[in-house]
Amino acid sequence: MLRGDFMEKNKVFFDENSNTFTSYISELNERTINSREIIVWFRNEEMFDTSKYFWCNNYMAGKLGIQRNDKGLIRTQDYYNTFVLDDEGNEMIETLKKASLQLKNNNETKTQYIVKLQNQETKEVFYIDFILEVFDRFPDGKIKIWGGNGIDISETFKRRKKIEYLASHDPVTNMLNRRYLYKNINKLWSHCKRDRKFISFIMIDIDDFKMYNDNFGHIEGDRILKFVGNTIFESLSRPLDLVGRYGGEEFLVVLPDTSIEGAYIIAEKIRNNIYSLKIEKNRESTRKNLSISLGVSCVIPSDEITLEETIDCADKAMYKAKEIGKNRTVIYGE
Ligand code: GH3
Ligand code: MG
Ligand code: MG
Repeated sequence: MLRGDFMEKNKVFFDENSNTFTSYISELNERTINSREIIVWFRNEEMFDTSKYFWCNNYMAGKLGIQRNDKGLIRTQDYYNTFVLDDEGNEMIETLKKASLQLKNNNETKTQYIVKLQNQETKEVFYIDFILEVFDRFPDGKIKIWGGNGIDISETFKRRKKIEYLASHDPVTNMLNRRYLYKNINKLWSHCKRDRKFISFIMIDIDDFKMYNDNFGHIEGDRILKFVGNTIFESLSRPLDLVGRYGGEEFLVVLPDTSIEGAYIIAEKIRNNIYSLKIEKNRESTRKNLSISLGVSCVIPSDEITLEETIDCADKAMYKAKEIGKNRTVIYGE
């Protein structure tokens, strides 16, 4: 059966005078008992009223770990409990509201969206590709009945996410790789340019890392790279702050809407956090703890200067920090 056919056929079962679904629930049950598609029916505002019930098929209830009652209904609240934040951090309820608003306000009858749901018993997470449809409206245009038809795309979706992750992240440190870092920086640069806000860059290079590798070997070196990357990441707090692996043992931090004073404070915080890890880089020297050198640059983006030039300024400042003794932060131009 083609996707959507099922709903088309069941449309005829809607009874205008019926106050419940019971008149055709047995029919629905029969048709959907072995269906591998998810089928849901809502009346009026049941979708957003947590005290109400709505109808769903066995397959959906099983996926979500929810018990249907003897009429095949589940509590809207139980459905809500399975909502988890989607991969972009959006609330599922917002996705649902947006999709339903589209149907409420327009003459459209169908909308499609992907939801992320969690089985309440097994804690397994599913991605469901949903088509939400309006089947009937009251004369004033208000929705009388709507239905949903979903297919479980978890396998494909998880595989796609994994491929995306592998393409955008560096396997050693699990941080954004240079290519994807640039992709994101370009966006932040444009935002700051439009809003005439500062954007700051911190170039970071591990001091004497060759020595660390020579002393402890490359595998241990890789482990430390991960550790350092993680510490940098954890030193940042704003959601738009970015960090990625820029080169071998170089990291680039991007701080949108941050002045040079703010960037210097963050840079010093990162430097102190790394130094206090007290990672021994050799056994003899007096300066034995692993440290980093940092260069900071900051601009309000304009047509006078490019992104690459600004990053290059941070790089130059970092090299100055190396020259004057390492384990320090230098601001470009100071
Ligand atoms: P400096 O204080 O001047 O930065 O000295 P350095 O030894 O860190 O010199 P530089 O930054 O030029 O050295 C880069 C070294 O970092 C070379 C290599 O031993 C190490 N390195 C680069 N990439 C990797 C990596 O992916 N894994 C490991 N284990 N080591 C790396
Ligand atoms: Mg280097
Ligand atoms: Mg180095």
